[in-house]
Amino acid sequence: MSQSSELTPAARSLWMQETLARESGTGTALLGSRRVDVCVVGGGLTGLWTAIRAKEQDPSLEVAVLEADVCGSGASGVNGGFAMTWWPKVKTLAKVMGTSDALRMAAASEAAVRDIGDFCRRHGIDAAFQPSGWLWAATNPSQMDSWQATLDDLAVLGAEPFKELSAAEVAEMSGSDQHLGGVFEAGVATVQPAALVRGLRSAAIAAGVHVWEHSPMTGLHRGRQGVTLTTPGGTVLAQRVALATSAWLARFREIRRHLIVLGSDVIATAPVPQLLEGSALPEGLAISDSRRLVHYYRSTDDGRIVFGKGGGRLAFRGRIDREEWSKNSRPADVHAHLTRMYPATANTDITHAWSGPVDYSSDALPFFGRLGGDPRVVYGVGFSGNGVGPSGLGGRIMASLLLGADDEWSNSPMVRKPRMWLPPEPIRYVGGRVVRTALVNKEVAEDDGRRPSRVATLLASLDPTSFVG
Ligand SMILES: Cc1cc2nc3c(=O)[nH]c(=O)nc-3n(C[C@H](O)[C@H](O)[C@H](O)COP(=O)(O)OP(=O)(O)OC[C@H]3O[C@@H](n4cnc5c(N)ncnc54)[C@H](O)[C@@H]3O)c2cc1C
Repeated sequence: MSQSSELTPAARSLWMQETLARESGTGTALLGSRRVDVCVVGGGLTGLWTAIRAKEQDPSLEVAVLEADVCGSGASGVNGGFAMTWWPKVKTLAKVMGTSDALRMAAASEAAVRDIGDFCRRHGIDAAFQPSGWLWAATNPSQMDSWQATLDDLAVLGAEPFKELSAAEVAEMSGSDQHLGGVFEAGVATVQPAALVRGLRSAAIAAGVHVWEHSPMTGLHRGRQGVTLTTPGGTVLAQRVALATSAWLARFREIRRHLIVLGSDVIATAPVPQLLEGSALPEGLAISDSRRLVHYYRSTDDGRIVFGKGGGRLAFRGRIDREEWSKNSRPADVHAHLTRMYPATANTDITHAWSGPVDYSSDALPFFGRLGGDPRVVYGVGFSGNGVGPSGLGGRIMASLLLGADDEWSNSPMVRKPRMWLPPEPIRYVGGRVVRTALVNKEVAEDDGRRPSRVATLLASLDPTSFVG
């Protein structure tokens, strides 16, 4: 395992820059040898929720978190801040676990969004939690009714989380007549993601969890005394370990078979209060379109627009160079799409541009398990661009697996491996590049009102990554 480097301050997202500027300094590194009952590797939302839930389940446990950089430096501090449910994934859920478990998991994911708001209130975390819903929109004619198959599946199951909107309602809600149609889900919230993850870090520390930052795990050795984790400054001997390093888990072959790591690129404008007062992008509303290389956007409480685009760089053999992956790989392209949606932003300054790795699983749902079948080392990964809300469920599943509990979480249908294996390298990387180019060509043609070529459509259909499916 290679040593993870740390990001320079300028390479951090708008959210992380804002949040770290309000703190008096980041945490300390692990120095020397320590013994704990449970060590969680990875200080993102998944890892911190796991540590918090493990400590809640058994307050007598010594629990620690090892984070390579600072908590929130992975996807959790750079994302769009949409806390979503699994209702749009109900078809895939049903395929994997049957309809009754699918309904149960989707309802649990909706409760997990509310839990974020409750947790923040109880712990005094100001993460700008706004339960203002999600507009799943079409921004060109080829995207119209993309949601219909999901609505049909939900109707059969007797669930109605989405409200159908007229074109006029969609244009009014989004503040842009570039939105041609859509559906609205009220159970979704937005957050300032770095404030959330740094708030969880504080809550974990307050509960007695040791949080060692600047401490990348460089080795994992299973011995008779326990599992030894090595970092540049020391070692931890733990009875149980939870691996919550998301895209970085692709280093393990057993996981890489089911995981594709793709970059997602984000920009933030300077504050544009006059534009937002004119009702473009009401505060708290989450909007995304229906393309595969999804666009997701929202305003912030200081009057900026944050606009992201999925399907950026592709990792070869799961390798992620932190500094490189923090750079937005196509800022001009992302800005052009923002301008298309909101033409009044054409001359607005873009003050921040960043990127981060997304852990797509081969079936677009996360999976949890025991590494090599060893109950001492558990993992959870594959949130597929929808982890801000569901990582709360992930934390409960991982905590129950860690503690050997026999409960609804350790027996969750999410404790599984996806059925589909992805091809080995270099076929996967080369094939991925070809499919991505086809997707770009197809989506450009659709935006221009042209019919995409048959080859592009066929190749694009091979893409297994999906934000909503
Ligand atoms: C640009 C972008 C936009 C996104 N937008 C959304 C969105 O709007 N809504 C949504 O639901 N999801 C979104 N996601 C996904 C979402 O952010 C994640 O699913 C969620 O935050 C859960 O992350 P995590 O804790 O599993 O992983 P991470 O936050 O990536 O945490 C993993 C941690 O492990 C650390 N680490 C790695 N290697 C080591 C090591 N060797 N030793 C110690 N620590 C290590 C990393 O530094 C990192 O802090 C987005 C992701 C990206 C990148």
